[in-house]
Amino acid sequence: MAQIDWDSLGFDAYRTRTVVLAHYQDGAWSDIELSETFSFTIDPFTQGLHYAISCFEGLKAFRQRDGSIAIFRPDKNAARLARTAAFIGMPAPTESMFIKMCELCVQNNLEFLPPYGHQASLYLRPLLFAPHPQMQLVPYPEAIFAVMCAPAGSYYGAHLRSAAAVIPGDFDRAAPKGTGSYKLSANYAGTFVPYQIAHQQGYAELLYLNSATREFVDEFGSSNFFGIKGGNTYVTPLSDSVLPSITNLTLQECAADFGMMVEKRPVPLDELDEFEEAGGCGTAVVITPMSHIDIKPVLREPLVTRTFRYEPDGEVGPVCTRLYKRITGIQFGEIEDVHGWCYKL
Ligand SMILES: *Cc1c(COP(=O)(O)O)cnc(C)c1O
Repeated sequence: MAQIDWDSLGFDAYRTRTVVLAHYQDGAWSDIELSETFSFTIDPFTQGLHYAISCFEGLKAFRQRDGSIAIFRPDKNAARLARTAAFIGMPAPTESMFIKMCELCVQNNLEFLPPYGHQASLYLRPLLFAPHPQMQLVPYPEAIFAVMCAPAGSYYGAHLRSAAAVIPGDFDRAAPKGTGSYKLSANYAGTFVPYQIAHQQGYAELLYLNSATREFVDEFGSSNFFGIKGGNTYVTPLSDSVLPSITNLTLQECAADFGMMVEKRPVPLDELDEFEEAGGCGTAVVITPMSHIDIKPVLREPLVTRTFRYEPDGEVGPVCTRLYKRITGIQFGEIEDVHGWCYKL
């Protein structure tokens, strides 16, 4: 195996050693299997491909300062996968099976777990999809559950770096009472082209509005939104079409640990003007502080009708920095895990 440069890891698919698999069929899960082939054989009529009966999770394993290995809040990911699976009528692994397979994935890819001190981790990607060949639009009780992993960098090293975001006037992510709050593969399909356009224009992120009225903020394409108000209040949207981010939940608890107020409520678009800091949060990036957010009525066109600015001195704000240090400090075992978030292997 070629030596991995732990300091220049990004976030991408990676061919490690082992994928951990289980197959649900005839009312029960198969034994857990360790596969090193990195390929599936599936029927061309597979529901997962035709109808996007497919969902996933994302969580991280860390090599901590004292040498131990911890997976961050895997019980929360197990519960969220079960909730998503129920929404699309799929069988889901139990919490203990989910955690066991994540552990096996780490243990059987140990050479890809970044050593302590590089601000890097092993990203675990559990995938659950329907392999059954079927045209009819009804659930079928069969599933493949696979846990794969990839070494992932911190994006920024020890320091946060901010990014710009754009609110597209001509794209929505999810509908109210639709699929937005579930971690479905399908939710991502509609974001590929808008992301491509946004990236070409120098925006790292898309900020989607709630599509019912387009008057409230929902979330970024792959991370939740939060804003800091009055230096002491953490505000994050309450919405039926936002994915319940475990990082966001964790940051809310960190903010409360700091004695901050936490407000989870609808966030009107105009309120973007009132935050001193704003950012995206999710497992992959942890926190992406936003330097500014533009509104564009038509994403492809140059016209910007409004800009919200968050870093007047060109520096990441103090609250984003403090929150980032707390969450990553707990993940790497540098700060006492008072909430019991680290699941030790
Ligand atoms: C996964 C995801 C997030 C982040 O969730 P975490 O549990 O914090 O990783 C946010 N938004 C969307 C749309 C997601 O799919």
